[in-house]
Formats: sequence, C-alpha cells, structure tokens
Amino acid sequence: MTRFVENSIVFPYKRSLGPVIGAFMTGLTEQRILGIRSGDQVIVPPLEWDPQTGAELDPDGMVEVGPAGTVESWTWVPAPSEQHPLGHPFAFAFIRLDGASTPLLHAVDTGAPDALRVGARVAPRWRGSRVGHIGDIIAFVPGEQPEVDGPDSGPAEAPVTMMDYNASITYRNPVPPVLDRLREASRDQRIIGQRCPVCERVYSGGRGYCPIDAVELGEEQDVDLPHTGTITNFTIVTPVQYPGQTETEPFARVFVLLDGTDVILPYQPVVELPVGEVRVGKRVAAAWAPPNDDIDDAGAMGGAYGHLIGWIPSGEPDVEDPDLVNRIF
Ligand SMILES: [Zn+2]
Repeated sequence: MTRFVENSIVFPYKRSLGPVIGAFMTGLTEQRILGIRSGDQVIVPPLEWDPQTGAELDPDGMVEVGPAGTVESWTWVPAPSEQHPLGHPFAFAFIRLDGASTPLLHAVDTGAPDALRVGARVAPRWRGSRVGHIGDIIAFVPGEQPEVDGPDSGPAEAPVTMMDYNASITYRNPVPPVLDRLREASRDQRIIGQRCPVCERVYSGGRGYCPIDAVELGEEQDVDLPHTGTITNFTIVTPVQYPGQTETEPFARVFVLLDGTDVILPYQPVVELPVGEVRVGKRVAAAWAPPNDDIDDAGAMGGAYGHLIGWIPSGEPDVEDPDLVNRIF
C-alpha cells in the first residue's frame, strides 16, 4: 500500500480593486449587490468597461440588483475540493438577479441536485461577518428572502479598496518505500542507503531505483552509512513570510558528502552552525533528536529524515579540495 503525503503551495498577493469593483465589494459588506449601467443593460458583477464596445463605464451608474434572482443554468459539484466555496455537494449556477441583464456565477446550496432546476428562484445567504469579498455570500438558497448566517457584524467601517488573494495548489506525492525505511532507521540513529547489486553504487533517499541500471533497490540492498561528512554545496535562504513559513531569520541548507561513500544528502538543515560559518569543506556530523521524540513526516520528501534533524560542526579542520563544489548529487 503506497503511502502519500499532501503538500500545499500558496502564493499570496494583494490587488487594488478600483472604483467599480471596490464599490461592488463594499456593497457586499452592506448586504447589497451592485451592478453597473451600460446603455440599457445592467452588468452584474459590474465591470469598468463595456465588454461589447470597450467604452469606459460611469461608476456613478451603479445600481442595486436582486437580492433574489432566477437560475439560468447550473452544474452539480458532487465532490467539492478544498478550493470550492462549500464543503458539501452543491451547484455552480448562473443566476440572473432581479434587475440585472447578465447572470452572476455563484454557488447554490440545495442539498441535492433534484431540488434544483432552471427557472428556480434563489436568494443570497450572507455571511454574518463580511469583509468585502464575493465569499461574503456563502451561497444562494431557494426562495425569495435573503438570510444571514450567524450574528450580523454589520457593514465595513471604510470603503473596501484592496483584496487579499491566496493562489494555492495542493498535491499528493507517493512516498517511496525506501524513504519510509530511511525514516524508520533514523529512530535507531542509523542512516541507511542502498547498494545497487549491478553497479555497486550506493544511494540514499530518492525513489528506490538505481538510475543507471534501472533496478529496484529493496530492503536486501540496505547498507549503513557513516554519520560524518563534508559540506560540498550550500544555499542561504532569506525567508519570505509566505503563509506557512515558520523561519524568520536567514538559514542554511547544505549538501553533505558522507565519508568514504559517493552519497550526497542534499538540502540538509544545520545545527549550531551560524549562517556566516557555513562553507564548502566544513566537516559535519549527524545530529539526532532524542529517540522518544515524536517526529513528523517533514523530511519525507527532502531535507533531513525523521530523527536525523541536521548536521552539526564536528570540530575537525576543513577539507581543502577544489573538486568538492562539483559534488552536488
Ligand atoms: Zn546500478
């Protein structure tokens, strides 16, 4: 049974909303949905320019629509992902709000698909606490009357001019069995690798295959590796405070060539080694967490493994070898 780890990458950014979208978002905090006049049309959500002619639209021509509307078309989402607006099955629908000429795309919460049809009347279910975001409407629900979910904290105190947005992706990676063995061995303060039965090269980590001979490296190929090595490459990371970044100060990731082998452990953390003292040729030794510490899977796909928490200066003199920097993998 293959084990998976889940990873998420999040890129946060801010955007300024401008006079039209800003007014729309501010309206949402007031439980009002605004459109904009364009000739005899009312465009919802409002745009700054007429999509037909490209003509600039007058922000003074914004008008309130809805709050109820009619479903023009819909599709059922039976298994929502974490990126969807609701955590249970729902519909995405084009809803023509009363007074609007164009449909608004939003979620409709009916519980089951057979409770929804084209022509159904729906109204917004507002969030009690609104920030000026399309998600201030949790979903549309059947009927003519808007609802508020929970205590109503009222409109925004100032016009909404900016929006925070996190673009994110979540993916699942299979964990090769060799990495689970590596992590397990780290409980006993062992670093294991695998010796290829064909070429006799030794690997540690990776996907559990010899890339030269394309043979799988199983438990019977496991060998113990030394606990000392030499830094061959490094990078100093100055952390940007993106969501989930727990580091606040510059920190090092080093590549360690294990003594007497060709094995390089890449992107290893260091312990008691200040950033300014990290250099190629520095001698280091494995640093271990206490055996009873509960260690998570942070190292499963990179960095140190399990109870191997990083590399600490061994106190030996540096290795002077100009070829060291050529040893990356
Ligand atoms: Zn091989």
